[in-house]
Amino acid sequence: MDAEHLAVPGVRGLQPYQPGKPVEVLERELGIRDAVKLASNENPLGPPPAALAAVRAAAGQVARYPDGSGHRLRHALAERLGVGADQVTLGNGSNDVLELAARCFIAPGDEAVYSEHAFAVYPLVVQAVGGVGRVAPARDYGHDLEAMAALVTPRTRVMFIANPNNPTGTWVEAAALDRLLAALPREVVVVLDEAYHEYVEDPAYPRGHALVGDHPNLLVTRTFSKIYGLAGLRVGYGVSSPQLADLLNRVRQPFNVNSLGLAAAEAALGDEAHVARSRAVNGAGLAQLQAGLDRLGLHWLPSAGNFITFHTPQPAGEVYRALLERGVIVRPVDNYGLPDHLRVTVGTEEDNHRFLAALGEALGAAGA
Ligand SMILES: *Cc1c(COP(=O)(O)O)cnc(C)c1O
Repeated sequence: MDAEHLAVPGVRGLQPYQPGKPVEVLERELGIRDAVKLASNENPLGPPPAALAAVRAAAGQVARYPDGSGHRLRHALAERLGVGADQVTLGNGSNDVLELAARCFIAPGDEAVYSEHAFAVYPLVVQAVGGVGRVAPARDYGHDLEAMAALVTPRTRVMFIANPNNPTGTWVEAAALDRLLAALPREVVVVLDEAYHEYVEDPAYPRGHALVGDHPNLLVTRTFSKIYGLAGLRVGYGVSSPQLADLLNRVRQPFNVNSLGLAAAEAALGDEAHVARSRAVNGAGLAQLQAGLDRLGLHWLPSAGNFITFHTPQPAGEVYRALLERGVIVRPVDNYGLPDHLRVTVGTEEDNHRFLAALGEALGAAGA
């Protein structure tokens, strides 16, 4: 049966999100055991030990439904961020919050604005609800907020800003964001995606949670998947005005964050030392990768995240496959409008070294 016509218009022709290749899959394909995955911006240090202990302790209670309101985690986040607990919306990863926003604010035919090279989930969630994406050309691979504002029409319901953006690693400064927020109509919900904010140390970088008090149309999304090392447990959250949070909560599944995720995230929040260590390892790894890419004569995009996107002089797909053959998984970014680039996640010093060595060989092999 051809089922395509059964789907709502937004789902017809929708290409699912392409995740990084899992290590087990590559190892099975190649019959090897020591593959390294640098494809999904995961924390090479893993989660804080306290989070693992909390998961073990919570495991005994998995027969019970989780706390559907995530009371303790929401209150802990609210206290840290200096907002009310009624301003925090928990998500099954921050992707869930992005989807809640699309379902809450975008009706079929409504428009959403995002940037060229922006995170691939934005077009997905917009299309799925029948929305129309308006894509602003990037400037130097980064978000051009003026170009984005210029695409706003009376039909615009949502603007997505990834800060920093994945896969380009670019970010917008506080002054530019302030100008945008002041200029936009309040009918446009601004989704400020801060999945990597913990990695950014520049004082010109804006922290979205401090802006929600002044902007009732601002929704900041964050995650425990990246620096907290809990990608597998799927915990993210939104910070917004209580009014936006109330709307998101209406479409949120009651148990969207599971009990192990809640326990782990709560425990992880308290471990500042692990975050600091992860940030330091990332900084050193970025420097190592940049120096290595320079030695190979490759151009790369300066990144504020835990990944680097670099240019490949030979077809990126060939380099990607040559790296796979050497047991190193990186991420193709052709679906981000970057067909001549690959993205590599910062790993441990050893992982990064392995990647650079494999890349050196792969460039020889891919051209051969
Ligand atoms: C990884 C990532 C997310 C977070 O995804 P989760 O659903 O929280 O795991 C969100 N936005 C961007 C830009 C990302 O790269």
